[in-house]
Amino acid sequence: MICATDLHKRFGSLQVLGGVSLSVAPGEVIAVIGPSGSGKSTLLRCLNHLEHIDRGTIQIGGDTLAQSHGGAAAHYAPPREARRICQRMGMVFQHFNLFPHLTVLENLIEAPLTVKGLKREQVVPVAEGLLRKVGLIDKRDNYPARLSGGQKQRVAIARALAMQPDIMLFDEPTSALDPELTGEVLRTMRELAQERMTMLVVTHEMAFAREVAHRVIFMADAQIVEDRPARDFFADPHHPRARAFLEHML
Ligand code: ADP
Ligand code: MG
Repeated sequence: MICATDLHKRFGSLQVLGGVSLSVAPGEVIAVIGPSGSGKSTLLRCLNHLEHIDRGTIQIGGDTLAQSHGGAAAHYAPPREARRICQRMGMVFQHFNLFPHLTVLENLIEAPLTVKGLKREQVVPVAEGLLRKVGLIDKRDNYPARLSGGQKQRVAIARALAMQPDIMLFDEPTSALDPELTGEVLRTMRELAQERMTMLVVTHEMAFAREVAHRVIFMADAQIVEDRPARDFFADPHHPRARAFLEHML
């Protein structure tokens, strides 16, 4: 589903990805963990082209989004092709990023209507189905400001799913929530995982990572320093940074 090789990314003089490689198989759930500033968000943002990589290769579902030859700067697919490739990925952010001036239902149908050019009568039933799935059909005509944080995040997940992605990227989806609201969001994510959605989840929820993720990617200082089955990682983290991180988290 995702094959990324030797990704390099700098912000000015700061190296944020220093040769990161990962591959993700269909249906795999991967927890991306690591200290703040280690490059987790940047990795996700590079994968779906919210940031440009300087160097490296990114393939999504067999299509090449960006490619470097012989250490040269990454060459991107033409814009239309790049957009089509990135539409295979849905992204959920820490701060929801819902459209405040649109109702819940309108938030879900906006991109299918404008980006995919689908008809209202096609997209509304799909959106309603997704709202039922995340338990928010009764909020369909509310504006985001009227929802709790947990409800907003479930709408954001449904909105991403409305584009029918093959891959879902989550960047700390519960970090902005009050503790009592994280459960409902994690439950929705767990259900998605059970439906064999391919998921890359940046999270500090170690219990969730341990239960739901197949693999853990641990990042430190712009590198992936461990990439192992979740069970092995939690039983016996190898890298000193990972060990220190887990001791601190648990
Ligand atoms: P993480 O998600 O692991 O906390 P990030 O990927 O957000 O880490 O950030 C990695 C480093 O890159 C941090 O030092 C951060 O300050 C820096 N950074 C992130 N985005 C930008 C940006 N747009 N411009 C400059 N520096 C950035
Ligand atoms: Mg981050």
